Amino acid sequence: MALQFLPTSKQEIDAAGWSSLDFLFISGDAYVDHPSFGPALISRYLESLGFNVGILPQPDWRRPESLLEMGVPRLGVLISSGNLDSMLNHYTARKKPRSQDAYSPGGQPGLRPDRAVIVYTNLAKQVFKDIPVIIGGIEASLRRFVHYDFWDDALRRSVLFDSKADILVYGMAEHSLKRLAQGLNDGKTLLELSLVPGICYVAGQQPEKGVILPSYEECLEAKTAFADSFRLAYQEQDPIRGKTIIQRHTDRFLVQNPPAPLLTTKEIDYIYNLPFQRTHHPRYNETGIPALTEVKFSITSHRGCFGACSFCALHFHQGRIIQARSHDSIIREATAMTQDSQFKGYIHDIGGPTANFREPACKKQLESGACRDKQCLHPLACPNLNVSHKDYLQLLRSVRKLPGIKKVFIRSGLRYDYLMLDKGSSFLKELCEYHISGQLKVAPEHASAKATALMGKPSIAEYDRFREKYERMNESLAKKQYLVPYFMSGHPGTTLNDAVFLAEYMRDQNFQPDQVQEFIPTPGSLSTCMYYTGLEPFTKKTVHIPKGEEKAMQRALLQYKKPANRELVLQALRKTGRFDLIGTGRKCLVTHGQTKTEKWKREPEKKVKKRSIKR
Ligand code: SF4
Repeated sequence: MALQFLPTSKQEIDAAGWSSLDFLFISGDAYVDHPSFGPALISRYLESLGFNVGILPQPDWRRPESLLEMGVPRLGVLISSGNLDSMLNHYTARKKPRSQDAYSPGGQPGLRPDRAVIVYTNLAKQVFKDIPVIIGGIEASLRRFVHYDFWDDALRRSVLFDSKADILVYGMAEHSLKRLAQGLNDGKTLLELSLVPGICYVAGQQPEKGVILPSYEECLEAKTAFADSFRLAYQEQDPIRGKTIIQRHTDRFLVQNPPAPLLTTKEIDYIYNLPFQRTHHPRYNETGIPALTEVKFSITSHRGCFGACSFCALHFHQGRIIQARSHDSIIREATAMTQDSQFKGYIHDIGGPTANFREPACKKQLESGACRDKQCLHPLACPNLNVSHKDYLQLLRSVRKLPGIKKVFIRSGLRYDYLMLDKGSSFLKELCEYHISGQLKVAPEHASAKATALMGKPSIAEYDRFREKYERMNESLAKKQYLVPYFMSGHPGTTLNDAVFLAEYMRDQNFQPDQVQEFIPTPGSLSTCMYYTGLEPFTKKTVHIPKGEEKAMQRALLQYKKPANRELVLQALRKTGRFDLIGTGRKCLVTHGQTKTEKWKREPEKKVKKRSIKR
């Protein structure tokens, strides 16, 4: 029988009546028993297969013995940094420490180390000696090949080499972990398990067959080699046609087996209907876990994304082919929510990486995999694309009719270009009527055509068409609901002129964002590859990379009305020769006149001039 919560201490193991653990899961996040939290999802899944799993959340990495608090597990140690890459979790786009950690008790920062997968695995190898160590989750998965690390500003080897783990499970781990766990339980060796799909391991000899990526040393030597490495790895990530991928690191080889098979609807239903408590472990009763608030009453409807936004590496982790839960399974979860004493009748979200991608992009994908050299929505929608929202609509209608449910919101991102392709559908009408609470957030990301093309996003003209349609729809429904667009600064390929163009677009829309999204080159994304190499890896065309002061100016232009940004905006406008935008005219972004800081900055120049005259 499933436990209410999985044990997190020796006392809880004793209380469960277990003599020891089969698997110990070391997590960089606090333990929240909710399916939106990877460590809980995987641990509950292994529990359902009959294994005794304990979760050691955020152990003190300064004391190796803290990893032994729950004893030595019988079969293996599983390690994940948590729901986010630990470096992204800890540092801002300007590499400054973040003041909050939403995945820690009370939002307290500093409870997991930087590069958590490497640190925990090194410790586990010290204290557990011969017990197999398996790493997984987003940090391990997106750092599985040679990758660019923004925080080091350098290429790093596959995380398997730095961590010294035995196996890395990439992508969605259930299939692979099931085979590994059962194999270990049957007494199989790691060598015997090295053919399990969905894993990476280190080999002393190069396997006979596989796609060979440029080696670590070749990538260090030439940025073009790293661009090739990225492109090849990107194209082969497909559960149907994906091949073995090999990357040499000095005298050893990183081997990635083909991806694990897709989960069937039955399998994914099984996973999401495991007995989650949908709350944090009682040890956090006093502090709570901030990240839970957003997702406590949210439902994952599917995995995978065929959107291919360049700055997102999710399709490199979850894949391009949608794997969706059945309506029954989602309705069961929604019904269970209504029994929760804290539930007020509002479901915050039914979605996934992209809310309105609930069905596979096309039939062909399921037979021969997603196209190797073509994207489903970009630059233009593929003629084979299934654009129907029928299934999603039907699901939303069923859930909102359930007793005890007042509203069902959609908070996951929607692709409005995809929505617009479904002509004649009532999706937009029902979205505005039932599933928005005053505002809809969407992500056009930029106004410049060059920028949106490199970002893998639709043009701003497409966004404008959607905005008009959205406004007309709300008017016809007599609803006052707004559209909140997200824009990004500093993406590879964007120049200062592009940023000025975006600022002008926002001025014309009478819109100023409260928050600015600054591009961060996170591991594993296409944009990160561009950032490091200065090349678009598929076309090999040179891409401008905004850095330093230019990056700061681009960011400031997004909030040109903010007094604190005035000086940078003035600099940007002078640099681009856009003096027409300085002044008091209707179209101007900032006024003339000197701020104190400007005055102060000019003084040293004068002094230098005087000195040079004297000489
Ligand atoms: S045929 Fe079109 S919709 Fe199908 S996978 Fe290829 S690009 Fe995507």
